[in-house]
Amino acid sequence: MPMRLINLLAMTVVLVGCQSATDSETLAIVNARVYTLAWGEPATDGTPAANAPWDGNTWRPDAEAILVRDGKIAFVGSSEEVRARAGPDARTVDLAGATVLPGLVDSHTHVTEMGRHEGQVSLLGSADENEAVARVAAFAGGVPKGRWIIGYGWDEGAWANVYPTLDALTAAVPDHPVVLTSLHGFAVWGNRLALAAAGIDRDAQATSGGEILRDANGDPTGVLLNRATPMLTGAIPPDVFPPLEHQLEAALLTMARAGFVAVHEAGLTTELLAAFERLDEQGRLPIRVYAMVSARDADLMRRWIARGPRADPTGRLEIRAVKAYYDGALGSRGARLLHDYADCPGHRGVAGGEYGFDEALVSEAARAGFQVAVHAIGDAGNREVLRFFEQVIATAPATRTLRHRIEHAQVVPPDDFPRFARSAIIASMQPPHAVEDMPWAEDRLGKDRVRGAYAWRTLRRTGVRLALNSDLPGSNHDPFYGLHAAVTRRNQAKQPPGGWYPDQRLTPEEAVRGYTTWAAYAGFSDHVRGRIAPGFLADLTVIDLDPFVAGTKDPGRLLDGKVLMTMVEGRVVYGAPPAQGR
Ligand SMILES: [Zn+2]
Repeated sequence: MPMRLINLLAMTVVLVGCQSATDSETLAIVNARVYTLAWGEPATDGTPAANAPWDGNTWRPDAEAILVRDGKIAFVGSSEEVRARAGPDARTVDLAGATVLPGLVDSHTHVTEMGRHEGQVSLLGSADENEAVARVAAFAGGVPKGRWIIGYGWDEGAWANVYPTLDALTAAVPDHPVVLTSLHGFAVWGNRLALAAAGIDRDAQATSGGEILRDANGDPTGVLLNRATPMLTGAIPPDVFPPLEHQLEAALLTMARAGFVAVHEAGLTTELLAAFERLDEQGRLPIRVYAMVSARDADLMRRWIARGPRADPTGRLEIRAVKAYYDGALGSRGARLLHDYADCPGHRGVAGGEYGFDEALVSEAARAGFQVAVHAIGDAGNREVLRFFEQVIATAPATRTLRHRIEHAQVVPPDDFPRFARSAIIASMQPPHAVEDMPWAEDRLGKDRVRGAYAWRTLRRTGVRLALNSDLPGSNHDPFYGLHAAVTRRNQAKQPPGGWYPDQRLTPEEAVRGYTTWAAYAGFSDHVRGRIAPGFLADLTVIDLDPFVAGTKDPGRLLDGKVLMTMVEGRVVYGAPPAQGR
């Protein structure tokens, strides 16, 4: 078993132990910069509420300490007040000036995909073959000889002119079979032991629709393309992959380390949902999971429609939402547009029935009381999904209160912005997408339509509620990356200096709310989470910079933030455990 996985499993044991140890106890969190977010909502232009801790120029924390009892917030105030109320058995956590926010929520994730790579070598971002080989060799140092090593993420598109070969990989890692899948899944690269185990030699014939790359002598070079890739990946013994529950648990721990107390998992099939349910039954969910049933799994949908939404009193695993897909993505020109792609005349993308959207089934889910979240990217996709929600609400008015969501809401026709608020639809948006897509988004859309793209401020101005998230693993889930993108419209290299269509920027307060209070609203938990206030659950994220002050004075610094501690219902799921005694 790779070292990384062993470490994670060991950590799980520690965490579970620490969870039971801190049940039913009193914690005094003192000496912190606490932003409770319990003050009023900002105006739709971003102006803070009159009672916000904002003097027109600077933010300041509105509390210094939190008393937590049995997983709930009992009191919020100064360190002195909290110490006075804490009692002799309380444990004190002195945060030495760190910032505390309501627990961060990533409200659109695919942690199941993140978990699939658990225990594997990441080749994401490796510049060339040498770097990839070096990463595999470093990883192999901790793996017993003979064990398979699996890696992922080398960029077959960028490397297509000169594919890597098995030579350097075999020289660096001679004693383990190595299989490295590519970023987009169209290629796989192996070393000599792996190819031998798969029986891929000079006599092997590629599967039709695939290719075994060969050298001048006709010997395989180590890379297989397209439909030939399973010839190599199929040779990996199944027990090389950790069990599904371990993959999911590890992915959720990764999210806990990144400061998240909850994820909204956007689309689960029968098998994946069952794995989450088993983890929940065994008390192994380190953070909360708000699971959306995938509308692509019609049998699962029908079972849940018959059963109705599940109210989970613990809030660990909520199943009250469904996720449907209406159109494709903008980069690959699958998003449905009202007019032709600017860079592909005659082409408008795919949507609706031809993209597998089962309108009858999804509206049935809404009538059964489920929140409906629909993926819509193109301007036609968004218009048609708005129409879908309007029809559902017209025939069943009570469904308007189900906090329906459009996931991405990426390109909206100018006339359609007000339709979101009219149907009380949440726009669930990804700050990273704007700054990652900016190199080509205008090529696809042209200079007029792009003004309705990633239009956070335009949506806010029409009174739409936003929820901000990463859509991981497609984008980096680091909350500081998301906050920085939301506040600056700049990428990780802080480009462009003035921001990309900066009139769509959000304020630091709105960005933080997008990952806290507004995400809690999108998950129906705003009455118990998303604020630091007496009676609310002690879901907290502790970070080493103040995003309100940094976001206002020097937003580039947001990228430097680090998560120090993540707490779910008073239990530390990541970070230094609280000090004993007072
Ligand atoms: Zn997604």
